[in-house]
Amino acid sequence: MDKNKEVISEIGWNLKKSYTKLPNILFSELKPDFINNPRVIKVNNKLAAELGLDFSKLTESQISNLFAGNELPPLSRPFSQSYAGHQFGHFTILGDGRAHMLGEQMAPDGHIYDIQFKGSGKTPFSRGADGKAALGPMLREYLISEAMYYLNIPTTRSLAVIETGEKVYREVALKGAILTRVAKSHIRFGTFQFLAAHKDYESMSQLLDYSIERHFQINKITTNKALGFIEAVMARQIDLIIHWMRVGFIHGVMNTDNSTISGETIDYGPCAFMDQYDFKTVFSSIDAQGRYAFGNQPSIIQWNLVRLAECLLPLIDNQEKEAIKKAQASINKFGDIFNHKWKAMMLSKLGIETESVDDEELINTLLSWMQEKNADYTNTFCHLMDLDHANDEIYEDQKFSEWKHHWQERTKKYQLDTIMKNINPVMIPRNHLVEEALSEAETNHRFDKFENLLTLLSTPYIQTNLREEFVKTPKKSENKYQTFCGT
Ligand code: AMP
Ligand code: MG
Repeated sequence: MDKNKEVISEIGWNLKKSYTKLPNILFSELKPDFINNPRVIKVNNKLAAELGLDFSKLTESQISNLFAGNELPPLSRPFSQSYAGHQFGHFTILGDGRAHMLGEQMAPDGHIYDIQFKGSGKTPFSRGADGKAALGPMLREYLISEAMYYLNIPTTRSLAVIETGEKVYREVALKGAILTRVAKSHIRFGTFQFLAAHKDYESMSQLLDYSIERHFQINKITTNKALGFIEAVMARQIDLIIHWMRVGFIHGVMNTDNSTISGETIDYGPCAFMDQYDFKTVFSSIDAQGRYAFGNQPSIIQWNLVRLAECLLPLIDNQEKEAIKKAQASINKFGDIFNHKWKAMMLSKLGIETESVDDEELINTLLSWMQEKNADYTNTFCHLMDLDHANDEIYEDQKFSEWKHHWQERTKKYQLDTIMKNINPVMIPRNHLVEEALSEAETNHRFDKFENLLTLLSTPYIQTNLREEFVKTPKKSENKYQTFCGT
């Protein structure tokens, strides 16, 4: 074996062919663009180890060529996926317009993980766009997806970022980049919508079986298979949105193509974390109507679930009326399940293990006070955990003091510390910190702020001696924040 082949064989690639055994309508096989001068910016060696991969014996140039798609892993047959989606309520045929799946890596944990390039060139789904990605948005996805992972929130992850050395043209010329993304799968609500649009129910039935096998325990889906699937996806998505609400995360573009069957957060475009609590917070410049505002996320995911259920109607029952009735009965469970879990989550933020009658009022009074006073969402809970940095004068407010007294009475019997400290983060990727780190990386090619932020975000719940600049509420001037659907 020549030296190069030997090194590659030691990486630990174990790519399985699974998605491409599904009907051809679901994907298109093609290679990523060749990149002349790739340069590695970041590799996630911890994640690599979880996937059974080890890049430590590769030279920098080999790593750059690997994550540029120039040197594909053995047995990789790259492909792009077909899908559709409701974008801001309007149905469109989409597909991976700039992504190539390398394959599914069988990891030591026994699961398979999609390994996908994003920004790796045009595909049959590019719809006139360039198939490329810019460095800033790819580093942003890397940083926020890893932050989400360490916040214990289901998410796709980031394995590497390379710079392509090419320019990508948006409103201005930007540095090109490719992100390598890892996911439990990239099957979206929109993947089912794509097959429904083609009335291809034979393929949908196969996709349904595949999705159930890959993401759910088949024996747990006991009723009608399609209905059981809808309810299982609903449960995952409810858990996910509740996690988002727990940490103040706003996805920003909850189109049905950005809702996964696995229940992982996907596509970190205009997402952001809320500093001051406001139910109506929107950061995305393209969301003028506030469709995807912080407080709308539960009703939007329910809307998306209805779109998923509509696709599956013919697999629920041959009789359309019956199918609709059954699907509605499943989706109607959403409200109760969501409210119950949301309340349990909010109570655990307050250190309360078991609910009592007045607790809903306790939660709502606090939220109204935060909304009225523009209190920092993260730091209000840090204040309740007695953390030094959160002793702002805002908490001397009379109304808050009364509420706090009431809360202290209510929680006397609980071991507050242990309950609250694993639920309430101290460190979140605050927008001004993210922008500062990215701007240093993009403009000056300096990555120390990015690296430092990444390190701090990898222990969001346990922080000792954290410098105030990382946890304080941003000043008003740092606060007028807008995100752009960065591509
Ligand atoms: P997103 O907003 O990232 O969820 O993307 C929505 C759709 O637009 C997907 O089908 C993407 O593949 C496609 N897309 C986004 N940016 C590009 C690009 N630069 N070139 C080709 N397709 C793109
Ligand atoms: Mg997307």
